[in-house]
Amino acid sequence: MQRDLVIAVIVTHRQAAVATCARARQDERVHTSACVRPTPAVSNPLQEIVALFGYPVAGNPTQYLMEKAFARAGLDWRYLTLEVAPELLADAMRGARAMGFRGGNLTMPHKVTVLPLLDELTDSARLIGAVNCWKRDGDRLIGDNTDGRGFVQSLRTLIDPAGKRFVVLGAGGAARAIAVELALAKATNIIIVNRADGAGQRSQQVPDRGPELADLLVDKLNIPARFVLWQGDFQLPAETDVLINATSIGFGDRQARVPLALDTLRPNMVVADVIINPPRTRLLREAAAQECRTLDGIGMLVNQAAIAFRIWTGRDADTTVLREAVEEYLNL
Ligand code: NDP
Repeated sequence: MQRDLVIAVIVTHRQAAVATCARARQDERVHTSACVRPTPAVSNPLQEIVALFGYPVAGNPTQYLMEKAFARAGLDWRYLTLEVAPELLADAMRGARAMGFRGGNLTMPHKVTVLPLLDELTDSARLIGAVNCWKRDGDRLIGDNTDGRGFVQSLRTLIDPAGKRFVVLGAGGAARAIAVELALAKATNIIIVNRADGAGQRSQQVPDRGPELADLLVDKLNIPARFVLWQGDFQLPAETDVLINATSIGFGDRQARVPLALDTLRPNMVVADVIINPPRTRLLREAAAQECRTLDGIGMLVNQAAIAFRIWTGRDADTTVLREAVEEYLNL
């Protein structure tokens, strides 16, 4: 029954994809590389399936990116976006295992609760304590985390993290993934700034994540790090090389303000934001006005998708196709 449902979703999606590409071919205004090769004419009757589980998950761009990357690579693979309620995650993972899915992505609220449902974790996933990407290897499901690596790869287009001093705003999943990978990339110092102080007054469910992340960096990754409680406008230490907003401030709101003393930004400092929509957040606009170098969240999204693509398929994704797909999806 479930398999029938999956096949019905695939067929519907496939028809939509074919119609979209036919429209794109007729429309000369569409950039040529945005219209990816259609899926192979001879289609495998048992296509490989990769799926995203989240709740809620509507509006997540990953399927749009991945289907284009699969088509460009000539892979007759399907990517499904599936809404899975928290209490049904174990059933959904059993289903993915039973139906032979090649792998998947996990987004909120499943990144941590999936851990005991997997057979093995990579070092990154174990240190970060969260999984956003898994693959099937034989009958074993292996969890990984590509968010932080995606961010660091994007950051490298502006600066080498080795030997640099970082301030990371936030201590949630994105901040944790980024901070761990910065430490692995030999950052000199990381300050974690979060509004929750560990007393459990604000974040009842995860009261200690700011101090706990700083402790992880010191204890497990051997890097000088400390936690600072975020109260009022944060004053950046003068020696900061890179500021990263890894909070959700700015998501869906181009005027949302990150509490920061703007006069502590210095020209040439790198200011990065994880927010993808809108990508030019107020923080990045204000940082650019102070002559900082800025980095939006799209590079992180594209790179983490490319890393996941390689994990599942063993092949490199066309990152131009991925980037154009994000821009199309966000109407940029
Ligand atoms: P979490 O819910 O795990 O963490 C959110 C963080 O933001 C927490 O540290 C939280 O603080 C902080 N925060 C939220 N609102 C405020 C506020 N008003 N003032 C101060 N701090 C605040 O979310 P994630 O870490 O998973 O995601 C964070 C953002 O990163 C999201 O917008 C997500 O879309 C984006 N993201 C982007 C990716 C990309 O590829 N570009 C990949 C992954 C995520 P507290 O602990 O006190 O609640």
